[in-house]
Amino acid sequence: MKYHSHKRILVTGGAGFLGSHLCDRLVGQGHEVLCLDNFFTGSKSNIAHLLGKPNFELIRHDMVLPVFLEVDEIYNLACPASPVHYRYNPVKTIKTNVMGAINMLGLAKRVKAKILQASTSEIYGNPLKHPQTEDYWGNVNPIGARSCYDEGKRCAETLFFDYHRENRVNIRVVRIFNTYGPRMHPNDGRVVSNFIVQALNDQDITVYGDGSQSRSFCYVDDLIEGLVRMMNGPDDFTGPVNMGNPDEFTIIELARKIIEITDSHSKIIFNPLPKDDPMQRRPDISLAMEKLKWEPVVKLEQGLKKTVEYFAEILN
Ligand code: NAD
Ligand code: UDP
Repeated sequence: MKYHSHKRILVTGGAGFLGSHLCDRLVGQGHEVLCLDNFFTGSKSNIAHLLGKPNFELIRHDMVLPVFLEVDEIYNLACPASPVHYRYNPVKTIKTNVMGAINMLGLAKRVKAKILQASTSEIYGNPLKHPQTEDYWGNVNPIGARSCYDEGKRCAETLFFDYHRENRVNIRVVRIFNTYGPRMHPNDGRVVSNFIVQALNDQDITVYGDGSQSRSFCYVDDLIEGLVRMMNGPDDFTGPVNMGNPDEFTIIELARKIIEITDSHSKIIFNPLPKDDPMQRRPDISLAMEKLKWEPVVKLEQGLKKTVEYFAEILN
């Protein structure tokens, strides 16, 4: 790569599901990539194939503590993302979101780096508006079991915009909707990984509630393309911008699709719906389409097949 287009890029949470795919992409483009992770939910196996590359460096570090590096861009992805993981130590989840954001924004301010925040559709809570557009302020329980994550991410957004207004930090905020694909943690309790693992093992598929709640599932490659486009988009487009796949499915439809793809003998069983579980979720991605010319291209069946292949391999 020509020197002028070659950047030093920090990816926090780079050994996680999304982070490792982002590192693949940036290393492949020839950038110098620093992957920072404390391996809480991420793993070395996700990035093992990158370790020998001259333009990839791994830093074991907890983002709650300051770090001094020289970089041009920061993708801030570090944070446990699945309910099982973020509830394991809720106070730590808040610290990662809030103190981690302060440390990364401070770093961005010091070295004048551009910084992108991986925010989430969870900031909309159990939405009263459907589909969700970026101007919707959300319906979030501040004291519930999901609050450490939802409110932590909301506070991180506030910090990003305050650093932008007060300190002119060059920010990007992306609200990511449910994303799936290879390298999801097999025990993270998220619906796609749970159902695939259950189906491959011919175990019962555990639908929570009656399965009429809906989600929209974005394949990881589409999401990574969106993050990179956002980072390289115009400086006056800070977001927040929704990124996800607007094709909406009920959880029972997803269970049936996964049984079909895996040719499984699993039965569907119904378990109680967790508290504060949103009934509907679908992104309105008009803003990303207009500003970044981005929209997902991978259909659910196609993405599920690739994800099933991955799980079949690691479960063997
Ligand atoms: P993940 O759990 O696979 O990855 C998170 C990574 O952050 C892990 O490697 C973990 O070890 C690391 N980490 C956690 N706390 C840390 C800390 N204090 N210091 C350093 N590293 C730390 O999750 P993911 O699905 O890859 O999610 C990545 C980001 O995207 C998260 O911020 C998440 O909130 C956001 N997001 C993901 C989704 C999704 O569907 N996957 C949806 C919305 C938002
Ligand atoms: N879900 C389910 N069975 C499972 C895991 C999840 O029915 O084994 C449901 C869950 O109650 C929710 C949806 O699937 O309604 C998506 O859950 P996930 O944890 O993947 O994402 P989130 O709730 O954060 O969108």
